[in-house]
Amino acid sequence: MKRRHFLKAATAGLAASAVAAPAIAQSNPEIRWRLTSSFPKSLDTIFGAGEVFAKAVADMTDNRFHVQVFASGEIVPGLQAADAVTSGTVEMCHTASYYYVGKDPTFAFGTAVPFGFNQRMIDAWMFTGGGIELMNEFYKKYNIVAFPAGNTGAQMGGWFRKEIKSLDDLKGMKMRIGGFAGRVLAKLGVVAQQLAGGDIYAALEKGTIDAAEWVGPYDDEKLGFHKVAPFYYYPGWWEGGPMLHNFINIGKWNELPKNYQAIVQSASHVANTIMMARYDAGNPGALRRLVAGGAQLRSFPQATMDACYTAANELYNETAAKNPDFKKIHDSVMAFRNEQYLWWQVAEYGYDSFMIRARART
Ligand code: CA
Repeated sequence: MKRRHFLKAATAGLAASAVAAPAIAQSNPEIRWRLTSSFPKSLDTIFGAGEVFAKAVADMTDNRFHVQVFASGEIVPGLQAADAVTSGTVEMCHTASYYYVGKDPTFAFGTAVPFGFNQRMIDAWMFTGGGIELMNEFYKKYNIVAFPAGNTGAQMGGWFRKEIKSLDDLKGMKMRIGGFAGRVLAKLGVVAQQLAGGDIYAALEKGTIDAAEWVGPYDDEKLGFHKVAPFYYYPGWWEGGPMLHNFINIGKWNELPKNYQAIVQSASHVANTIMMARYDAGNPGALRRLVAGGAQLRSFPQATMDACYTAANELYNETAAKNPDFKKIHDSVMAFRNEQYLWWQVAEYGYDSFMIRARART
């Protein structure tokens, strides 16, 4: 537009769009990113959270910021997603922070720790309790900035070939279990192994492992574990509300215009909410079908839970004594959790426990 015409338009009150257009074009560059997921496409809830995120980013930018989502193994294996972000092989990944406890156990707090938060509580800690800031201070060492992007809700304790009647039954058991929980169970004699989601069924079928935990009914049904290990235990005390994250390479993050940074955060919120909603909506029907198909529901014996609780606290104290990052975040998480349960025991628990009994009577 020629300057003379522009001035004319301004006086006519039509300037806003004419003036704004070039500015918008500058702050909305065309950008293409690659997101590597730690999960296979078959798990539509958890892999789907990456797609929900990418669609939200595209919708909010008129497709100018395009994030292409790759399944586990297409670029790097699922458990190497964070490394690919640290090195800049990809701009970002959708993953579970606790997959990387081998680098530093502090990673566990991003997802879940044994006897930690439920889903509502980790949201409260992350978004308003200083959690995002504490975790990002830690992730910076790995060239990563991270935002919450999904949750499964409280998980099941997993699939066992044999019943757990006492602590002795855990001794020597080979179990696929993610994150920091394996180290708690190791104190009780379990041989813990970390396998990506897509590899668990084959290991359980071959007998390479005796038990496996993944998530809960909706995913577990698809993975078919009930066919090879019928006892389905609960609760997954190591994952009361495990959170997924978008890990982003810090250099790539800093290159984004401010509005795109805001969009990435908002789109991560969308993924955080939708993933939880999909699990909550899908779990009841899947649980019915699993039980009809032969799964046998069992709760962990109280003595087993108590021993695991004690072992977890021992492990926290041992780890905190030699790892200042772990201690700092552990102290924040546990203080916040204890305050949450002070509240939870009143209205939340009161309401849920009444409704569970009322439903059973009708
Ligand atoms: Ca799990």
